Amino acid sequence: MLSKEIQLEVNKGAMLPLMEEFYTIQGEGYHTGTAAYFIRIGGCDVGCHWCDVKESWNAELHPPTSVDLIVGNASKYAETVVVTGGEPLMWDMTILTQKLRDNNRKVHIETSGAYPLTGSWDWICLSPKKNKLPTPTVYEAAHELKVIIYNKHDFIFAEEQAEKVSGNAILFLQPEWSKKEEMTPLIVDYVMQNPKWRVSLQTHKYLNIP
Ligand code: SF4
Repeated sequence: MLSKEIQLEVNKGAMLPLMEEFYTIQGEGYHTGTAAYFIRIGGCDVGCHWCDVKESWNAELHPPTSVDLIVGNASKYAETVVVTGGEPLMWDMTILTQKLRDNNRKVHIETSGAYPLTGSWDWICLSPKKNKLPTPTVYEAAHELKVIIYNKHDFIFAEEQAEKVSGNAILFLQPEWSKKEEMTPLIVDYVMQNPKWRVSLQTHKYLNIP
């Protein structure tokens, strides 16, 4: 149970439940292969059964951490900072993104879009989930749409989601890791037949890096 003071700081986004932070290579999507500092914020109620960070779901397990500390750490490493989760938009991202930008960082987010957009972002990667669909504000602002392909029905879901993002959003299909042997050949065929899409792979997992 958080004290009232800390809860107030969390509510306004001056403290966030930090699960982990690390400097690595962005493995997926448009910025694949580029160095980035990752900030993983705890808390997610979307409930994807194949989620590979289930430890993030319960925000109470992750200590409320001051945004100033997070920004200070991030600013020692890469020019690009990726905020991920969990679902970071469960929290108000305004203060975090403002302070990162004041420190001349490029600020990216990986989100399911299940909560309204807060914060000011250089790049928004929307990875929508069927369990809890994105809010209109995230569809409108997304620079990149990354749909995870777990089964064949997900191609239909991907097309439905592509209708909802802006015409400038870059479209990716990415095999869910445990289904990659089965789904990757289908994705390759699909992209050749529907070249508005691109293939995204979880290259960090092949490289054995976080
Ligand atoms: Fe996991 Fe992301 Fe789904 Fe949340 S939205 S359950 S963090 S994959």
